[in-house]
Amino acid sequence: MAVAAGLWAKVPDFGHVDVVVVGAGAAGSTAAIAAARQGASVLLVDKLPFLGGSSTAVLDTFYGFYSPGSAPRRLVDSIPGEVIDQLRALGPVVERPNTYGAGTGVTYHAEHLKVAWETMVSAAGVRVLLHTMVQDAQVLDGRVTDLLLATKAGLRRVGADAFVDASGDADLCHFAGFGYETAGELSPAQTLTTTFRMINVDQDRRRTITKEEMRALMLEAAESGYDLPRRDGSDHITPVEGMTATVMTRLDSVQRDPDGRVRTVLEPERLSAAEMAGRRQALEYARFLVDRVPGYADAALGALSTQIGIRETRRVYGDYRVTRDDVLGARQFDDQVALCGAPIEDHHSGDGTAWAYLPDGAAVGVPLRSLIVRDATNVVVAGRCFSATHDAHASIRSMAQCMAMGQAAGTTAGLATTGAGGAAGGGDVRAVGHRRVRDVLRKAGAILELDEAAGVAP
Ligand SMILES: Cc1cc2nc3c(=O)[nH]c(=O)nc-3n(C[C@H](O)[C@H](O)[C@H](O)COP(=O)(O)OP(=O)(O)OC[C@H]3O[C@@H](n4cnc5c(N)ncnc54)[C@H](O)[C@@H]3O)c2cc1C
Repeated sequence: MAVAAGLWAKVPDFGHVDVVVVGAGAAGSTAAIAAARQGASVLLVDKLPFLGGSSTAVLDTFYGFYSPGSAPRRLVDSIPGEVIDQLRALGPVVERPNTYGAGTGVTYHAEHLKVAWETMVSAAGVRVLLHTMVQDAQVLDGRVTDLLLATKAGLRRVGADAFVDASGDADLCHFAGFGYETAGELSPAQTLTTTFRMINVDQDRRRTITKEEMRALMLEAAESGYDLPRRDGSDHITPVEGMTATVMTRLDSVQRDPDGRVRTVLEPERLSAAEMAGRRQALEYARFLVDRVPGYADAALGALSTQIGIRETRRVYGDYRVTRDDVLGARQFDDQVALCGAPIEDHHSGDGTAWAYLPDGAAVGVPLRSLIVRDATNVVVAGRCFSATHDAHASIRSMAQCMAMGQAAGTTAGLATTGAGGAAGGGDVRAVGHRRVRDVLRKAGAILELDEAAGVAP
């Protein structure tokens, strides 16, 4: 606990709910819906002015719904599937192959996704607090009792029986003093990317060059004075005619001081500097596209991502840590609550990206234990701060898996508080038991085993 006990006593009380979900990204929004569907009263808190986190602030393509390889299967459904249905009701959605063999992606209009999340969260009866940042946690014997919120109206405290940390950066666990690994400490950290969209692109002309020719153009431009640190970045079509989206820029997320101390974008000044450097780099890539790439001669920058894309910061220590061997060996677990067939995709420092694939047609299970926070009794984690090593995280962090983890985490927290279906209630997340969680997920249409995953046309 960072804030003095005396201050906590003076902060106005926002009340008590069954479940507080911290972070409304793909994981947190799904977790909130799932917990509310178990009958829990739920408060969803996010520092941004909209729901979706990276899914709406940075990106536009869900990966992980489909396994890659010669016989693709649909690996994720239920609430994540409903999200796609909501998007389709608002406008076109494009399914497109991933050029690096990560499976079919589902490309959507990010502004539509903001409204889709709002529609689903509201329909589930979730209370939402936007523009609200969690700043501290009160903990008693491994049990989080209250969170300190910085709101537009000043500081507030909120209590709950159970909590979901879906903040991406594991802020709740950090403030509570629970164990985690910071990316860069034990293994390299994934880099940062400011994404951007281009408009008025002649897509037929753009299609005349391959990914290899694009890379050659980038190398050539870098040699003739353009500042393009990454040369294997990509652009892709979107549901909007003439608009493309990019994942091209690259900044290191971690530096080491001479004394070996790891410095990351969890430090406010470093994060601020990265935001500004990312935008400058994006403009340089946009200049390159217009000057050098077929189809972009009459194009213009349409938008920069709302914030810099952060792939990896803190990974919480859970009751189990998913490893590289688990992923590449497509390990199955008794308590698995999601499936992932995506390769390890490591956006390391310097040029290039490292890929390592699961066996063709295989998928690794994501165990419930990797969502249960080791040092807590009433906290589950979901999304990119779940319990995994750097390599395993680099496979399982796709948004479909973050949503599936969110559904499992929210279901567990909901059951732990309402006592539905024989669970003990009171917020003890371990007391719910993986059989009960898996049963509820399956009844809701979630896919937990490979033989439940339907094949799709490649
Ligand atoms: C550049 C980039 C490209 C990627 N490309 C793809 C892709 O094409 N397809 C794909 O499927 N995946 C992709 N990924 C991975 C994927 O986007 C992420 O792993 C996933 O979106 C993480 O979801 P999340 O809900 O765990 O976290 P986030 O989306 O990061 O959500 C966390 C939320 O918590 C909020 N928050 C954080 N701290 C606090 C606090 N203290 N108080 C209140 N709120 C807080 C944040 O505002 C945010 O809304 C990419 C990632 C990056 C960075």
